Amino acid sequence: MQKLVEGIHQFQKDIFTSQRQLFERLAGGQKPLALFITCSDSRIDPSLLTQTEPGELFILRNAGNIVPPYSQASGGEAATIEYAVRALKVKDIIVCGHSHCGAMNGLLHPEQLGELPAVRQWLTCAEATARIIKENYQHITEAAPRLTATVEENVLVQLENLRTHPSVAAALARDELKLHGWVYKFETGQVFGYDSRRGQYDVVGQGPVT
Ligand SMILES: [Zn+2]
Repeated sequence: MQKLVEGIHQFQKDIFTSQRQLFERLAGGQKPLALFITCSDSRIDPSLLTQTEPGELFILRNAGNIVPPYSQASGGEAATIEYAVRALKVKDIIVCGHSHCGAMNGLLHPEQLGELPAVRQWLTCAEATARIIKENYQHITEAAPRLTATVEENVLVQLENLRTHPSVAAALARDELKLHGWVYKFETGQVFGYDSRRGQYDVVGQGPVT
């Protein structure tokens, strides 16, 4: 905890003073570029990854970057999505999964969730992902590629769930909103984006300089 408190002190001393104008401007309101939906995993830093400033990303995080379908909506996710689309009028929504996702590993191995009943319950929103992997990926038996496939398929399932939210469906119908599926591989710095025309993930940007 001490590290966090010292961090606040350093932020106020170094960062805030040098960017005071930005923070004062933000007091007047926000106009984020996008809604960024990702996992709670501590290894992901959306603003660092996309090199965006405070005020540019509206962020929704939970275990497994899951979007409950509107009918199952628990409240928090649906409210955040509705506010982003209808009130803030974001033009893009990104669902960003990531490598080595613990939630997706739990989805593949529900027997390991014995002492985590809330997680097990939450992952029922990704039941379609589990079913897709079980029925369509029998040929991939090795743990690592099977987890990667789960992460990738889950992003697509959650994009479909997004479309069940009325605010999203309406904005898509007006052509005022675009949905994007990304997978962030933090150990290489790569981001893969889903190309719906080609039906596969491609590298976003130039990839890391090696
Ligand atoms: Zn995760």
